[in-house]
Amino acid sequence: MITNLILLVLLSNAAAKPFIRTTRNNIFAFQSKQAPTVTAPLSKNDFFTIIEDPKKRGATVLEAPVEQEGVKLYIAIDSASFQNKDRPGNGGIRLLSYQSKEHAIDDAVRLAKGMTRKHDMFRTGFSGAKVVIDHDHEDLSVVKRDTLMRDAAKALKALDGSMYTGCDLNTSDEDMDFLTKFTDDKYVLAGRNSRVDTNAATASSVIGSILGVLDVNNEIISELTFTVQGCGKVGSIVARELLRYGAKCVQTCDLFSENAEIPGCVPIDDWTKSTCDFFVPCANSLAITETVANNFPEGVKYCVGAANSPYANERARSVFDERGVLHVPESISSAGAILADSVEWYDIDLYQTVERSLMYGWIRDISRTKSSSLVRKADKKATNIGTVLRAVVPPRIGDPIGKEFPEWIKKNTVETDTVIVGGGVAGTAAAFALSEKGENSVIVERGSSIAPATASSNGDSRMYRRMYSSEFFSKMQSKALNRWKDVEEKSGETLLKENGLLFYGEDTGETVEGSVLGAKEIMDKLNLPYTFYASGDEIAARYPSLAGCKGKPYSGVCEDTAGHIRASKACEAMVKAAGQHCDVRVNSKITSLDVKEDKVTVITENGETIIGKKAVIAAGPWTNEVLSMAQLPQVKLSIWMVQWAHYEVDRKVAESIPQAFHFRKENDIDGGLYYVFPATATEAVTSTDSTKSYVKVGVDYPTNEALGDMKKFSYEGEQEVLDLMDGWVKEHLPAIGKRIDSYCSPYTMTDDSYFVMDTVRPNVAIFSGGSGRAFKFGPLLGDCMVSLLNNDDAPIDLAPFSLGREALKM
Ligand SMILES: Cc1cc2nc3c(=O)[nH]c(=O)nc-3n(C[C@H](O)[C@H](O)[C@H](O)COP(=O)(O)OP(=O)(O)OC[C@H]3O[C@@H](n4cnc5c(N)ncnc54)[C@H](O)[C@@H]3O)c2cc1C
Repeated sequence: MITNLILLVLLSNAAAKPFIRTTRNNIFAFQSKQAPTVTAPLSKNDFFTIIEDPKKRGATVLEAPVEQEGVKLYIAIDSASFQNKDRPGNGGIRLLSYQSKEHAIDDAVRLAKGMTRKHDMFRTGFSGAKVVIDHDHEDLSVVKRDTLMRDAAKALKALDGSMYTGCDLNTSDEDMDFLTKFTDDKYVLAGRNSRVDTNAATASSVIGSILGVLDVNNEIISELTFTVQGCGKVGSIVARELLRYGAKCVQTCDLFSENAEIPGCVPIDDWTKSTCDFFVPCANSLAITETVANNFPEGVKYCVGAANSPYANERARSVFDERGVLHVPESISSAGAILADSVEWYDIDLYQTVERSLMYGWIRDISRTKSSSLVRKADKKATNIGTVLRAVVPPRIGDPIGKEFPEWIKKNTVETDTVIVGGGVAGTAAAFALSEKGENSVIVERGSSIAPATASSNGDSRMYRRMYSSEFFSKMQSKALNRWKDVEEKSGETLLKENGLLFYGEDTGETVEGSVLGAKEIMDKLNLPYTFYASGDEIAARYPSLAGCKGKPYSGVCEDTAGHIRASKACEAMVKAAGQHCDVRVNSKITSLDVKEDKVTVITENGETIIGKKAVIAAGPWTNEVLSMAQLPQVKLSIWMVQWAHYEVDRKVAESIPQAFHFRKENDIDGGLYYVFPATATEAVTSTDSTKSYVKVGVDYPTNEALGDMKKFSYEGEQEVLDLMDGWVKEHLPAIGKRIDSYCSPYTMTDDSYFVMDTVRPNVAIFSGGSGRAFKFGPLLGDCMVSLLNNDDAPIDLAPFSLGREALKM
């Protein structure tokens, strides 16, 4: 029947496609079992040898001439596409050494048929095809790539638009460049001249398919463990994406163990023995043998990955099936690259200019819909999924799916007055201030929540104080406190707790946080109330928990009206207070920023486009990364790793631990500055033991070389610094118990400790360089940014924060 199909296609296309002359002799030859190959004469010169299909494998197989010795080139193409430019074949070129010609052809046909299933599944406009280059060299490097690609190009040209190809096993971007050149930029769909990475496209379809499964089964990703088998170009992206979507645990495994070392993932040695809910095969074909399937640890519920033909045979697959493992076929889960191809073929200009996260978002969406529709129709049996597959395959006629991409982009575009990049204190304050002017905003936040754990604004508490060595910041705090009251009122949340703040320690001179005596001077000047302690003994007498002060040449100033702000809660409250004027997108890292005079466009990694008339860039330590997306000038910032932790303490003792800042001179790697928050400021940690509570202790000096960006930032921090902190606690707060956790957060510093608050374009305001002190000014910073954007009078003098100042020059 297949042979007949081939004949039919050959006959029906013979007149239109002159390159293969289908003479009666050839027809007889096809039907003859004795003659395995037939040379199809071309009109001018012979080109392909058509390999007859005695095994009825189900695709047309051609052999093309190759110049170099020891290399054969076979093309398997869905018979419906053969010589059909309207529905061309599409599949990559792979280069392998096969046992025999038969093996090579079998592989080509198997892969072409698999490709047909994928193309059909999504109506890409293509059928399946594959180019298999069989070489008999021990060492692949002796194959001359340029001449080989020249030969492949001749074959593609001879197929005259009925076959497109791209990279596959052992072929590279460089090969594709040759091929593109030799085909005059035709017939190669390899993502060249585009930002789209075909590996990321494939990973997007895996993730989309996983999400589809979760949707239907009401599974919560944060409760699931995944095993990603194979952490190559696709698997490594899948693993990182699973983390981004909040997977409870992502186990990674690779033949080369260093590939499995992905930050946040848990490398494992043997994927066949590790318990997981979700198995994600992204390595070689045929890896799940019957034995593996039988012995796979209990608990596995789903199998969705990028590997083609993950099961060694039908039996292996039915073992998983019998164990109730739901399997989404790879014709859905690894179709990302061909979905991208569909756009590349349909609209090359769009493909070459589009921001890649839009493409990945589209692929994720399509795969998610397809996978959930498949799973809904199936019960939890893999074989049943096989049988319902047909129900989710669209008819071949109709527009190719790539044509839907522009419409999808439009549907995923949101317009607002102001786009705010970053949902820390600066971003949320801007949203709050804008809402008070009746203006709408969308906050785009890369983390999984407002003030996420990775941001500077995250945590249970930040100090507020007017006790500064600088009159400017002291006055600024007074203004900001009034605005915090507004936030509390409008959000209905209590955010500030007045628990006093003690500055104490030795005469250090001015430090990054000021000094005891400098603060006293300004308090006197501004007539602010405080209590003064002239010696370490006086301090210890007032605060018995600070027993370490005894006998020390210390002094202390306590501002009784200072206190702490509930940090993460305050950011959430500003969004709450902004009400309907503010939309928030979390898990939405922006990947592109385009600034025009009256329009700012950001694109998120989820594939959403947000357009505002104005923008606020409040990206904290990631500021320069965001600025560079729009080729805006970089700002001189340095990033410090600062560490903090909670310590257990008896509830009774806790009552005598004040909010305090300890000034000491630097000593080697010990920066000298430590602070403690009282038990009333540590709501993030609770104890079931009613006799215990917690205090927070932190260091206020860089615990590593200051960094230029976040690439090398470690949220783990340094053990040496934890040791210093533990030592400080032991010496200065001897009544405190053990440390129960530890954190490391970024400070974004400027050389002069003033913030960066200005416009980078008339319609784009920026805030950064919070320099370990910005939180307390939160809502006032929002007012300042809005005044900058709207050209209104600012509530304070903004000159000290201007971008043009000397301290910010690179
Ligand atoms: C441990 C610690 C203690 C501190 N103590 C005090 C204190 O006691 N008192 C005080 O006043 N101040 C204090 N500070 C300083 C204050 O917390 C910070 O200055 C302030 O939180 C900075 O806020 P931000 O909004 O500028 O940055 P962040 O809070 O870091 O917010 C930036 C946000 O932008 C997001 N983002 C970045 N890039 C992208 C992107 N491409 N797409 C989408 N989103 C993106 C980030 O995820 C982040 O959430 C402290 C800081 C730390 C770290």
